Amino acid sequence: MFRPRFFMFRPLLRQRAYSTYKTFDNTTVSTNPYNFILNHWKGLALLAAGTTAFVVTHLDRAPISNRLRLMLIGHKIEQFIGGQGYDEVISEYKHALLPDHHPQVKRVKRIMKSIIDVSPFAGDDSIDWRVHVINDPKASPNAFVLPGGKVFVFSSILPICGNDDGLATVLSHELAHQAARHTAESMSKAPLYLAASIILYSITGSRMLNSLFVNSLLKLPASREMETEADFIGLIMMSRACYNPDEAIHVWERMANFENTSAGIMGGRRPPEFLSTHPASTRRIDNIRKWLPEAYDARTSARCDERVAGYMPSFLEWSPPRDVGLF
Ligand SMILES: [Zn+2]
Repeated sequence: MFRPRFFMFRPLLRQRAYSTYKTFDNTTVSTNPYNFILNHWKGLALLAAGTTAFVVTHLDRAPISNRLRLMLIGHKIEQFIGGQGYDEVISEYKHALLPDHHPQVKRVKRIMKSIIDVSPFAGDDSIDWRVHVINDPKASPNAFVLPGGKVFVFSSILPICGNDDGLATVLSHELAHQAARHTAESMSKAPLYLAASIILYSITGSRMLNSLFVNSLLKLPASREMETEADFIGLIMMSRACYNPDEAIHVWERMANFENTSAGIMGGRRPPEFLSTHPASTRRIDNIRKWLPEAYDARTSARCDERVAGYMPSFLEWSPPRDVGLF
């Protein structure tokens, strides 16, 4: 294979490196990058030290997965954004909200509460949890949790979830996004994307190429990484809450079938994984199979078999899930 050698570009570099120009006051300025570094090394060193100190003091670990990431957004801003989003969703779907006494609302609340009790939110009385089921037949199957404990489930996802273990899979995935503060993490990366955009634009001069690079090389992989992390954290949380982690595989199989069927109905094709914000369902299933041993360990540590059998000796340090004010 032909490989370009560095010496082939030397004449070009030499030509650029030693060029000079005259300013209006007739002083000669060299564009040699080595001269620039030599003349400004103190400022550059200060900038590098400042940036490193800033990044190090704003690093944060995601719960359960322990992934290290940059976090610039505080809890208060996150709560504020969650509150705004909540008002918007309520005003959009107020005609379709099922009442609190509806059996499906009670079911979602019961399962959500059991997962919250084993999540990083357990015991946090400052969160005003609200759970809503939206009965809109036209809406695509979905569920989401907004910062500040606002849970929305579209009734169209319930048949895909199937049993309680399946619903726990979806709810724990959504709660995992909140536990890992993925909204705040995405917002923290916005300045980095902007800087990358500016640098790329100055090189390519093309806005389209620039947004394609930033989206496909930075934003989409970051989004897929957070989705995969939510799958992992969710699987561990649902296992701690004594749901069956095997059911997670069946949920994503049903989700894949639904995606394929709807793509067929719409005459379109599912976007390939590298252009999608979510990992392909087959990738998800492979990951979950890989994580199942950890999920079984989480169930064992939570003494789920003893709880299921209804056998709870008094010396076990277990107490019924406490009410966190969800209902
Ligand atoms: Zn997700």
